[in-house]
Amino acid sequence: MKLRLVQLFKHAAYGFSFFCILTVLGSFHRSDKNYDHSLTLLDDNPRFRRAILNSTPERSKVLLEREGPLVELGPTVPQRLAKDVYISVKTTRKYHAQRLGDILDTWFLLAPENVYFFTDSTDSAIDQATGGHLIQTNCASTHSRQALNCKMNAELEHFLDSGRSWMCHFDDDNYVNVPQLIRMLGNYDPRRDWYLGRPSTRGPIDIVDPQGEPAKKVKFWFATGGAGFCLSKSLVTKMAPYVRDGKFVALGDKIRLPDDVTLGYLIEHLLDKRLIVVDKLHSHLESMRLVRLDQLHEQISLSAGSYNDQKKNVVAVPQLFTDAEDPQHFRSLHCFLFPKSRICAGRSPLPPTPTSPDTEETPLADMDFR
Ligand code: UDP
Ligand code: MN
Repeated sequence: MKLRLVQLFKHAAYGFSFFCILTVLGSFHRSDKNYDHSLTLLDDNPRFRRAILNSTPERSKVLLEREGPLVELGPTVPQRLAKDVYISVKTTRKYHAQRLGDILDTWFLLAPENVYFFTDSTDSAIDQATGGHLIQTNCASTHSRQALNCKMNAELEHFLDSGRSWMCHFDDDNYVNVPQLIRMLGNYDPRRDWYLGRPSTRGPIDIVDPQGEPAKKVKFWFATGGAGFCLSKSLVTKMAPYVRDGKFVALGDKIRLPDDVTLGYLIEHLLDKRLIVVDKLHSHLESMRLVRLDQLHEQISLSAGSYNDQKKNVVAVPQLFTDAEDPQHFRSLHCFLFPKSRICAGRSPLPPTPTSPDTEETPLADMDFR
């Protein structure tokens, strides 16, 4: 609880204030759930359209025949779409050792052709392990606004050059169920403008617009970078004039906000497009233990990382690996979701260890940001 507040203050320190002018209910009209999918399904593929409409959790279960590019993504995911998704992961030198191994052993193997890591230093071992997908950005290796905006700038520019249809960003403490991600994207047409993500504020943020003459307030929503978000090619193409040649960094400097908030300002305010809420994306600003195990297969992203005084904030899957082997529990999570993966062979749940009693956790949506 204390730590979550510290994180909130961290954001506040960037110089913006949260105003809860909309209720959580008020945000639901923008939700992915209530959106009329029939308008946006890829209508050039009637078989896919039928498959999505008829899919049940059982039918859409992923068959993990083999790892790597041969992974069978399931009957409702067209391979064409799988190839069209560009997944960028932001990382930094000190996390190559601490965090990237957890991704490379698990969800990276679901889509090695799709995932690119954006970092701030060379690392031949990681470059080799990712098949040359480690991108050295020349950005500073700090958590500063400029450094984070610099990496987001690089992610957007590389995506524009890739020719792919969707860009999805994640942090290096995210676990991504790639087949679920791709299935969700199948509901939207990348030839139209889509900003898909999950906010962690109860209302839109409210800043004095530095571009306004005379100064006036603007309100906009933003998708939390640490939960992951996706942008359609059509939208990123419209963003290009504010992105190319380092312009995204300049925009962040002008409004003095970090990367995910700058992105919300650019898309919602400058381009007048709305964020669509995808509630299956999860950052560690939420308690991972509140994600129900019987709903875990449906989730798109999960996270680990923020720690309260006693316990790690990790998904409550049975542990097949010790904390030392699997500090973020991503391997255990991966085996829960994809039990035929190579790393799960011969593993069974560890005997329960005495743990400290659960501390009271408050779901983010119940917290007051004022
Ligand atoms: N990060 C970075 N440079 C830094 C510190 C962090 O690029 O100096 C990246 C990190 O790899 C991660 C994201 O920024 O993808 C968020 O960092 P972290 O999870 O450490 O902090 P949070 O903002 O979630 O508290
Ligand atoms: Mn984090």
